[in-house]
Amino acid sequence: MGHVDHGKTSLLDALRSTNVADHESGGITQHIGAYQVTLASGQKVTFIDTPGHEAFTAMRARGAKVTDLVVLVVAANDSVMPQTIEAINHAKAAGVPIVVAINKIDVPGADPQKVRLDLLQHEVVVESMGGDVLDVEVSAKKRINLDKLIEAILLQAEVLDLKASPNRDAEGVVIEARMDKGRGSVATVLIQKGTLKVGDIFVSGNEWGRVRSLFNDRGQKVLKALPSEPVEVIGLQGTPSAGDDFIVVDTESRAREISAYRQRKARELLQVKTMSSAEHLLAQIKAGEIKELPVLIKGDVQGSVEALNGILSKIANNEVKVHVLHSGVGAINESDITLARASKAIVIGFNVRANPTAREMAKRDGVDIRYYSIIYDVADDMKKAVEGLLEPELREKILGYAEIRQVISVSKVGKVAGCMVKEGLVKRGAKVRILRDSVVVYTGQLSQLKRFKDDVKEVKEGFECGMSFENFDDLKVGDMVECYEMEEIAVKLTFDV
Ligand code: GDP
Repeated sequence: MGHVDHGKTSLLDALRSTNVADHESGGITQHIGAYQVTLASGQKVTFIDTPGHEAFTAMRARGAKVTDLVVLVVAANDSVMPQTIEAINHAKAAGVPIVVAINKIDVPGADPQKVRLDLLQHEVVVESMGGDVLDVEVSAKKRINLDKLIEAILLQAEVLDLKASPNRDAEGVVIEARMDKGRGSVATVLIQKGTLKVGDIFVSGNEWGRVRSLFNDRGQKVLKALPSEPVEVIGLQGTPSAGDDFIVVDTESRAREISAYRQRKARELLQVKTMSSAEHLLAQIKAGEIKELPVLIKGDVQGSVEALNGILSKIANNEVKVHVLHSGVGAINESDITLARASKAIVIGFNVRANPTAREMAKRDGVDIRYYSIIYDVADDMKKAVEGLLEPELREKILGYAEIRQVISVSKVGKVAGCMVKEGLVKRGAKVRILRDSVVVYTGQLSQLKRFKDDVKEVKEGFECGMSFENFDDLKVGDMVECYEMEEIAVKLTFDV
């Protein structure tokens, strides 16, 4: 895992071509999301090539522990970047040890020591700094120290004392699954226990199947797969999801029965209006079942994020304390939501908003996002939360979003925004916030709402309208107008209205 362009793919390719025996590397390589590298010693290491931390955390959210350790790739010329920090927090939340690969040491200006120092700030303490995290300086491009990286991985693996029996029915986890024209549903499964054989009957997520054929990461047909081997499985009745379990069972009738039961459960779950994560969390706190209130903080500037981090980390009573899983500057993104979902955390947006995709995901996954603009309010709410007393229903209700497409100067009135309602609706008299790159630049009231020349009460999604705002003129094309109402009892909780 690591920041984009720090060299994850290059490193994986270099490790693969260095270690895959010549006669094998000639074969057609297929992307199956995982590779196994055989070392000169005969030992094997499986690399899971998750496209991002989302995939990793999504798997964890489904209860799967997919990796035994995380190789954190940090470019020595760029050092620790936002996605590096995200990766660290995802790995920590999953309780997986980290091995640091300081990459691109061949680049002029590379500063591996700066990487170590920067990592220190995120509580990744490498050995030379007095910690126990292994780090290796590498160059994927010049193939420097790849053997040392493997050595570090093996050393860490030894410490973990990883064991699995091949002499039992197979169990594993789905890394990727898709519908393939011609082959039907295809799943890449990482075997975690036992041996998977052609002909085995299995259940995976809500689906079941019988292994018709198996392919390894080099696209070769194989008859069986051992623990920690990734294989493509053909013979599924439906397509499972990444992170689903994969369990061999005795008979087809048993497999059908389990998958039918799981499908029924899944339907029921969809029907029951699920509690949001925060509601669930607060109920558990009240019942004394959990000791930590996990939160994620995103803010507009480093100063307020640090201040919030400091204040919230100190909030605790005798039973429960606040645990800040991740904090950062910028809009709430998809990675934040996956992490929050997997860790059942509350997301705090301080003068920032969730981007549209993250908002959709949060809605779908029942992740609670709370928006604030006053530090005191956040502290106050979190104090209530550790008591299990925060009322989840006390909140603002977002009505919709409009995008400013045009800014027009009108004499006497001032600046007027020509907008397109992109989501929901906007309403006269409602409260609004103006977001520029997901950061709040104005909070106030809609003073005018017009369609063509007429004043109107509301404008729905897909329609254009004109807006002006009380005491605010600094409008820019591309700004988003967030329109919201406070629900009856919610007035005091989150906003300085
Ligand atoms: P990813 O986004 O983390 O998978 O990064 P990539 O593997 O795609 O690498 C991003 C860029 O960095 C590519 O242009 C690589 O050629 C380059 N790169 C990767 N590793 C090294 C390295 O060790 N040295 C140098 N000089 N360039 C590298």
